[in-house]
Amino acid sequence: MKVNKFLDTLIVGAGFAGMYSLYKQKLDGFNAEIFEQGDGVGGTWYWNRYPGARCDIESMDYSYSFSKELQQEWNWKDKYGTQPELLEYANHVCNKFNLKENINFNTKIIKAKFNKNNNKWLVETNDNQLIECKYFILATGNLSTPNTPNINGIKNFKGNIYHTGAWPKKMPNFNGRTVGIIGTGSSGVQSIPIIAKTAKKLLVFQRTPNFSLPARHSKLPKEKRDEYKRDYDKYRKLAQNSSFGIAKYQPPTQSAFDVNDEERNKIYQKAWDEGGQAIMFSFTDLLTDQKANETAAEFVRNKIRKTVNDKKLAELLCPQDHPIGTKRLCLDSNYFETYNRDNVTLVNISKHPIDEIIENGLSSNHSEYLFDDLVFATGFDAMTGAVNAIEILNDENVTLKSKWNNGPKTYLGVMVSDFPNLFMITGPQSPGVKSQMILSIEQHVDFIHSLIKHTKHNNYKDISAKTKEQDEWVIHNNEVANSTLYPLAHSWYNGDNIKGKTRNFMPYVGGVSNYKNICDQILKDNYKGFEFS
Ligand code: NAP
Repeated sequence: MKVNKFLDTLIVGAGFAGMYSLYKQKLDGFNAEIFEQGDGVGGTWYWNRYPGARCDIESMDYSYSFSKELQQEWNWKDKYGTQPELLEYANHVCNKFNLKENINFNTKIIKAKFNKNNNKWLVETNDNQLIECKYFILATGNLSTPNTPNINGIKNFKGNIYHTGAWPKKMPNFNGRTVGIIGTGSSGVQSIPIIAKTAKKLLVFQRTPNFSLPARHSKLPKEKRDEYKRDYDKYRKLAQNSSFGIAKYQPPTQSAFDVNDEERNKIYQKAWDEGGQAIMFSFTDLLTDQKANETAAEFVRNKIRKTVNDKKLAELLCPQDHPIGTKRLCLDSNYFETYNRDNVTLVNISKHPIDEIIENGLSSNHSEYLFDDLVFATGFDAMTGAVNAIEILNDENVTLKSKWNNGPKTYLGVMVSDFPNLFMITGPQSPGVKSQMILSIEQHVDFIHSLIKHTKHNNYKDISAKTKEQDEWVIHNNEVANSTLYPLAHSWYNGDNIKGKTRNFMPYVGGVSNYKNICDQILKDNYKGFEFS
C-alpha cells in the first residue's frame, strides 16, 4: 500500500491535549499533524453539548498557562466555564496559534503498527490514508468513548435517543415532551435541572445516587478576573504545588477529629456556602479514614434531606454505597431542588432494574414507563476506551489492547513498554483525571516533548519504557490508591462501570505536585526508566 504522508509526529485528537502538543511540536520545528474525528477542535467540549454542560473547575484555573498573552487577553465570562464558552476558547487558541492548518478533521485513526525496520509507525485512517510517522501521540482523552448500555429492545424505541457525551449540535426541543433520562452522574446531575424546566415531564432512572455539591455558579466579576490576572504566576504556581492542581485547594492541616462536632460542622457549612469541592479539602483524613469521611458524607446527606420535600424521596437520593469523594463528585445547580417539581419523577431502578426498552418507553419487572425521548447520561468507557478503540500493534504484532486485558500498565501514564515512540497524554496511572485537567495536560505534554527532543537530538531511533520501571510504577500506583478510600467505590476510575472490564484502579492519586517532581527527577536522572536505541 502506498504511504500518503510522512510526518515526524502524528497526534490523535484535537482536544486541549492535542492542541497544546501540536503547538509544542510546531514550535520546535517538527513536522506534526493532528487527526481528529470531529469537525472541530475542543474534544470534551466539542462532544458534550448537553443542556447545562459546564466545567466543574473554575475558569481562571481551567485554562492554558503556556502563553502569558493568551491568559491575559482571554476574558472568562462565568466563574465556571460553560460548554459554549469553553468551545469558543478552544477555537480561539486554535486560531491564535495557527493550528488549524495542521489538523485533519473528520478523520478517524483506526490502526497503527510499529515497524522495527525503520522505527516508524504506519498509521491508517478510516478513509484509507496511510501515514508514516516517527512519533505517535495519543491525545484521545479519558472520557471520550460514550458508554451506551446494551439494553434489550433499544432498537424498538420510536422516539429520539441522545447521549450526553455525543450530543447533537442542534439543541433538541423538549418543550411539551415527556423525557426519560438514565444516569445520575455529573452529566445527569447537570442536565436534569435544565431539561426539567422545558420538558412536560421528566422521568429520572436512578440506579445509584451520587454525592453532589452546590457549584454556586455566578458571572465572573471583572475585579476577580483582574486580581487573578495581576498575579497569574502566583496562582499557577499554587496550583502546580497542590494535590489536585487547583490554586485555592491547598492541603488541609488538621484531621476531622482534631475539632469537636460543632466546629467541624461550622467548617463544612462554610465550605458548603462557598460551593465547589471545598468540603473535601476541609480535613486531612477525608479520603483515608472512613470515620472521618462519614462526617462529611452525613453532612451532605443532611443537606439533601433538608432540600427535598418528600422524605422518602430524599432518602432515595442519599448515597450510602460509597465514601464521599471516592467517585468523582458532582457539582450542581439546583439538582436536588429539581425533585420538588411536579413534573419530575425519580424511578428507583436499583430495586427493579430496567428489563427492556419498548417502542414508547421502558419496562422493569415492576412497571412500564412511557416517554417520548430517551437520554443516556450513562458515562464513558473511561481512560482506556479511546486507546483500545485503535488497533495498535507493536513490532511483534501484539496489540496494546491485549496487553491491557487485565488492566492497563504504563510507565507514568505516558509510555508502555514494548511500544516504542508511542506516547499518551494523561494516560492511565497518571494524575490526569484526578486533577485540573489542563494543568496535567501541559505538564504531560512538556514532559513528553522533552523525551522526544532528547531522542531526536541524540539521533536515537526510538525511545521506550523499560518493563522493570513500568512494573514498579504500576505497583506504586496501586499502593498509593490502596492507602486511600478510593478503591471502595464502584466507579469509572476502576472500570466498574463497563461490563466485562477488569477491575483496576487507574488514576494516580499521589497528587500532581508529587507526580511532577517525579517526572522532573527522571529527566535529571538521565531519563531513568526509559531506554533509547
Ligand atoms: P458517570 O459518572 O459514569 O455516570 C453514569 C451514570 O449512568 C451513573 O448514574 C450510572 O449508574 C448510570 N448507568 C450506567 N449504566 C447504566 C445502566 N445500564 N442502567 C442504569 N444506569 C446506568 O458518567 P457521567 O455522568 O457522564 O460523568 C463521567 C465523568 O465525566 C464525571 O465523573 C466527570 O469526571 C466528567 N464530567 C465532568 C463534568 C463537569 O466538568 N462538570 C460534567 C460531566 C461529566 P451507576 O452509578 O449505578 O453505575
